[in-house]
Amino acid sequence: MQRSERSMSISIKILPQEVAEKIAAGEVIERPASVVKELLENSLDAGSKKISLEIFGGGSGLIRVADDGTGMNPQETELSLERYATSKINFLEDLSSLQTFGFRGEALPSIAAISKIEISTRTVDLPYGTKVLVEGGKIIEVKEIGRDTGTTVVVRELFFNTPVRRKFLKSRNTEIRHIIEEVSDQALANFKTAFQLIVEGKQILNFTQTEQLDERVGQIFGKDFWHETVKVQAEVFGLSLSGFVSKLSFLSFSRPRQIFFVNRRRINSRLLNHAVYLGYGEDLGHKHPQIILFLQSEPKEIDVNVHPTKREIRFADEGAIHHFVFTAVREALKIKETEKTIELSKPEPHFFRPIIPEEGIQTAFLLPEEKKEPKVVIPHFWQLHNEFIFAATKEGYIIIDQHAAHERILFEEALDKTPRESQQLLFPLTIELSPAEFQLFEESVVIFTRLGFSLRVFSGRTIVVDAVPVSLGRFADARVIKEILNELVSLPQVPTKTLEEKIAASYGCKAAIKSGQELSPEEMNFLIDRLFATQNPLLCPHGRPTIIKISLEELERKFGRE
Ligand code: ADP
Ligand code: MG
Repeated sequence: MQRSERSMSISIKILPQEVAEKIAAGEVIERPASVVKELLENSLDAGSKKISLEIFGGGSGLIRVADDGTGMNPQETELSLERYATSKINFLEDLSSLQTFGFRGEALPSIAAISKIEISTRTVDLPYGTKVLVEGGKIIEVKEIGRDTGTTVVVRELFFNTPVRRKFLKSRNTEIRHIIEEVSDQALANFKTAFQLIVEGKQILNFTQTEQLDERVGQIFGKDFWHETVKVQAEVFGLSLSGFVSKLSFLSFSRPRQIFFVNRRRINSRLLNHAVYLGYGEDLGHKHPQIILFLQSEPKEIDVNVHPTKREIRFADEGAIHHFVFTAVREALKIKETEKTIELSKPEPHFFRPIIPEEGIQTAFLLPEEKKEPKVVIPHFWQLHNEFIFAATKEGYIIIDQHAAHERILFEEALDKTPRESQQLLFPLTIELSPAEFQLFEESVVIFTRLGFSLRVFSGRTIVVDAVPVSLGRFADARVIKEILNELVSLPQVPTKTLEEKIAASYGCKAAIKSGQELSPEEMNFLIDRLFATQNPLLCPHGRPTIIKISLEELERKFGRE
């Protein structure tokens, strides 16, 4: 890596005031995952091939990052803790050719100010290393040590001297999830480096060194990912784009994982997001694609100095970037269309697995026995465009949105603590979860079991679904488990909601009958029965109406019969 040579020849110095003043400084350490981000970036900037991260107590107890990078000599080690001390830029103009993640010289002093930090490091050209102990920003001890080339930073008791911040930390598992996401992001963008993450003594992630992005993507997202996405690859002068977006048949109703990297830096960008959505055109409808895209551009075309945590950047030529990304995505999806015809000849996995064999299918929705026989009493139901159910009432008729109605039913079932009945799957389904999804799975398996799923861990991060809730009827799709977990790990955290509430909302949304699904009269009847048994039958969990009532009077008025 060219960076390693750079940081060896240029030692750390304090940025001149006028440069320091112009860099977008700010609070960068919000939570343990921010420490992880900064330390990993430093290790990567030091040209490391192998990085090991260990955490205890959700990261606020201890974070240890060990790398095999260039290391620092004794003077550099002490200097690295000074504000605006960096080896990565000298002048503001250097930003236009920036190859490193860091450039502000702020991370180490910011972390050191709010924790007990220990840095031990050695460069290749010195026979001994250095160890520095710092507490609340003050150097306590500096000594010579023996060690390999590289750097180990240990951050203990984060926020120990800022009790308010400490109080705002989320549950240990939430913080761990953020850390897993952070490591996975860095690992995606830096596939030539090996990463491991050890949480409370247990190895959670182990990404070996690879030469291919695809290989790293597979390590992180599992093999299902290849089936669900198309590859995007495009290049024009000075710009290149690579990565993956959902196939048209794997779009989802809620926003799944959408990740952009620009020059290996994970960023949020409405511009890029918009360009991708535009690439799908009308095919998208109200759905959302998974996105994992890497854009490479010349550093001078990008301003990284606009946001304290560097999560946002500015493009010099927004129009050109937008057009490039839009076209690349559109082309990738077009190619996929032709491939699709080939794929169809292979047996596709069932989207909706038939659960009850043959003649049972139509009545799978009918749970209580007595409802099976008296077909005669079924009132007149009529399904319009496989989306709305019309039912006659004494005063007129009602129109029910089948998805919203089922959503309300499932949502309330999930919030109610009674264990629900299960139906066995004919073919148990194995699902590979991402590390973050698996972490959440372990926390929420009790809740899923209560809903009527039967789940077990198969090996590693692969789980098996043996049974699904009876309430899902013949539309049950065991993969909803992954969809829910994925939604919950990618959603912004809503601190006021419990895990149960979040799962209930997501379960209702994802597992409910979709519009477009044809229902038998029995199924319609059952749905309406169950809807009226809920606490709040008139609204779906998002607050939209489930039912519209039209009275006879209203009809008569409309026909001018008054
Ligand atoms: P920045 O990354 O913006 O330069 P930091 O405060 O993160 O600022 O780090 C200060 C300096 O310490 C870096 O510029 C680098 O020279 C040195 N440094 C920090 N971490 C490491 C590491 N893991 N290996 C080698 N040098 C490091
Ligand atoms: Mg840094």
